[in-house]
Amino acid sequence: PPYGQSPPWYPTPRGGTAGTWAKSYEKAAKMVSKMTLAEKVNVTTGTGWQMGLAVGTNAPAVHVGFPQLQLQDGPLGIRFADNITAFPAGITVGATWNRQLMYARGKAHAIEARQKGVNVLLGPCVGPLGRMPAGGRNWEGFGADPYLQGIAGAETVKGIQSEGIMATIKHFVANEQEHFRQPWEWGLPHAVSSNIDDRTLHELYAWPFGDAVKAGVASVMCSYNQLNNSYACGNSKLLNGILKDELGFQGFVMSDWLAQRSGVGTALAGLDMTMPGDGLRWANGESLWGPQLTRSILNGSVPLERLNDMVTRIVAAWYQLGQDDEKKFPRQPPNFSSWTNERLGLPSEGSPSPQEKVEVNKFVDVRANHSVIAREVAAEGTVLLKNEDLLPLSRKGLPDAKLKMRRDNIRRATGQVRSGKFRVGIFGDDAGEGKGPNHCKDRACNQGTLGSGWGSGAVEFPYLMTPIQALREEFDLTKVELHDFLTDKPPHGTAADAGLADLELCIVFANADSGEGFAQWDNNQGDRADLKLQKGGDSLIESVASRCGSGVSDVVVVIHAVGPVLMEKWIDLPNVKAVLLAHLPGQESGHALTDILFGDINPSGHLPFTIGQSLEDYGPGAKIMYLPNAVVPQQDFKEGLYIDYRHFDKNDIEPRFPFGFGLSYTTFNISRIHVSPKKTKSPLPAPRPSPVASPPSYPTTIPPASEALFPAGFRALKKYIYPYLDSVDDMVSDPYPYPEGYHTTQPLSGAGGDEGGNPDLWAVYVTVAVEVANTGPVAGAVVPQLYLSYPEQEGEGGVDFPVRVLRGFDKVYLKPGEKQTVEFEVTRRDLSYWDVGRQNWVMVVEGEYRFGVGESSRHVAVEGRW
Ligand code: BGC
Ligand code: BGC
Repeated sequence: PPYGQSPPWYPTPRGGTAGTWAKSYEKAAKMVSKMTLAEKVNVTTGTGWQMGLAVGTNAPAVHVGFPQLQLQDGPLGIRFADNITAFPAGITVGATWNRQLMYARGKAHAIEARQKGVNVLLGPCVGPLGRMPAGGRNWEGFGADPYLQGIAGAETVKGIQSEGIMATIKHFVANEQEHFRQPWEWGLPHAVSSNIDDRTLHELYAWPFGDAVKAGVASVMCSYNQLNNSYACGNSKLLNGILKDELGFQGFVMSDWLAQRSGVGTALAGLDMTMPGDGLRWANGESLWGPQLTRSILNGSVPLERLNDMVTRIVAAWYQLGQDDEKKFPRQPPNFSSWTNERLGLPSEGSPSPQEKVEVNKFVDVRANHSVIAREVAAEGTVLLKNEDLLPLSRKGLPDAKLKMRRDNIRRATGQVRSGKFRVGIFGDDAGEGKGPNHCKDRACNQGTLGSGWGSGAVEFPYLMTPIQALREEFDLTKVELHDFLTDKPPHGTAADAGLADLELCIVFANADSGEGFAQWDNNQGDRADLKLQKGGDSLIESVASRCGSGVSDVVVVIHAVGPVLMEKWIDLPNVKAVLLAHLPGQESGHALTDILFGDINPSGHLPFTIGQSLEDYGPGAKIMYLPNAVVPQQDFKEGLYIDYRHFDKNDIEPRFPFGFGLSYTTFNISRIHVSPKKTKSPLPAPRPSPVASPPSYPTTIPPASEALFPAGFRALKKYIYPYLDSVDDMVSDPYPYPEGYHTTQPLSGAGGDEGGNPDLWAVYVTVAVEVANTGPVAGAVVPQLYLSYPEQEGEGGVDFPVRVLRGFDKVYLKPGEKQTVEFEVTRRDLSYWDVGRQNWVMVVEGEYRFGVGESSRHVAVEGRW
């Protein structure tokens, strides 16, 4: 197709072809075959915004025993709920590079979900990927690289689903900026179109979704934006072709909230569930499905087979997660309400019909010991960017020898002889409580210490352990005097200024916030307006650095941020000796920080994105489009594969800190690379295997119209979405015309054939082993990273490859002097590129692959070849 256009791909492949889901499909087929038309429609359609207690609820199929499903945000905790854990955000999890923690956080999140009565979690998030460093929701995902996103997303899915909760991988796909993500927030007739070529779509944006499908994810949420000028939730190439045929997805596709923009079109394009059920506007009680879907089945606009497939996919997912087992999964509405904090509330808040209040909030505490996981993730997700022999601190301030040196310096510079307690100044609003963590709705303002970004991905903090509180608890106050200046106003020229000359250590806090496009803070409408520290953070740091101990005492900078921030103004100042990027740490913020500052935990976080010296460094594609450039804004992803480090590497731009970078209090050595081929190279994967199971088949006669009428005496709530029609007398028998290309059967993808795609793509073709050793004084965890460089392709028609791409990582804890061997398994997919002509993943058989292993994308300790 021409650039920016999306080809047709019909009809929707039916679910039930994969061995991993066969039993669930058998059970689902039995149940679905007994459903009436109205019940089937119920299962596919939300009951309307605020019609249930969760942010999304479909309707049950009562007669066959299928319950109403409760869907709740979001990726970092149970949204709108009490007594839950506010986990660190996705970006912090990505920065841990720790698979076990990724899994453990997902699992703990799901335990809380089940105990709150939630069936489906609306997370994890692997899109946006982070093409634009200022993208408002990048922090909900795990970092600006598809491989890292893929592993972190898959581990989170496995963790969540190990507890019988359906995970939702979102947002499919290319919702890279908040501006114009959908029409109504921005006063436009249409959402932005992300225009992405086929290869880039496969190798970057769809990649992590492939990992989630392979991991067995129950649901995929299609995004608000258009992809190649076709809405993601109505894009047949994307949903039917890539997701259901090529990736062999067996679960159900759910729309983002109001991302469904057409009724019949989305059904044919592969959407299976519409949320929250309302049609083109919030809470108007008019659905594009519901009764309209009923009508479309009766008049033949949507084939019955398609509806059967939608329902079967949803019911199969429910069986697949074991939610039919009432012992494991008590059938009850959520025991919390998203809409009120009172004990009593309305069961359907969104309906103006009179209703009795019922007990909606039971205030069940589901946190168990999950604060432990939250703290571990926050600590391991903290990246030490700079440390000139300052950290770790001692609880007494500085170790004695350092303190003596410090005081000698101050004496030489100022003539002051100091003794007594060690004087530490803490600066910045970001160190403190502010007006409390839940001061603004959906966390949509930046005040107090920053624990998360804003929007549907945020939660109500049960508490937020602030840095200042933890520092007060942890410093030995018999030895240390703490002075706090919890404001962002630079101290010079203020009353506080005089106190600064005496300080022997300053810890300055600054931050940068962003969030979902429905809310705005300061100049940041979802997306950040720039990459600067907010609230004058740069001036604060500069001012403190110049005044702290008359400019000779050491300064530690601590940053909480949703993504990369520019540090050029102060990073090279001589007394800025240490810098920590703590990302978005969640409720355990202060504890995790002091764990690192005092060396109880040796920092092992690594950057999940590149920190550039300017926004320009990231390339033209990295800029948010703040003003629409057309009636349907056109975002051309013309940089192709070259985002984040791929762009820096290609253009030889020196980053301030490269992707994958992070320091430790010890040193590591990586050596002895060993490359072991496991299979022989060949360009194409093995032929697509035939399906091991057949999708269920059902009678194809259109059910009687009587199944679609409101039952006699039915008391309908206003605005609530029911599947029924008032009358079938006006039924037009001319079906809606099927879209162009509908009757052209598409060839099945050679990359497909099972859940996650052609199994050969997941086969290990080569392993790379290295030895890692702790060569320093203290125990700590090393993160060896494997970067692959494709064989050079000379001359005309040669394929262009990024300089290097991440294809493996591990995290290994080592005592001083300890060594260990680490092995990376490299799959066929890892070694391939997407060949647009052949429409398949292709391995390069001529020449040699190079494997570099190091501690960041710019550090190659050892290199091997294959
Ligand atoms: C967000 C989704 C979220 C949904 C439900 C949408 O605005 O984009 O991520 O799951 O709302 O709250
Ligand atoms: C609501 C959020 C919701 C969002 C979805 C907002 O208007 O306040 O709760 O998640 O819309 O876009």
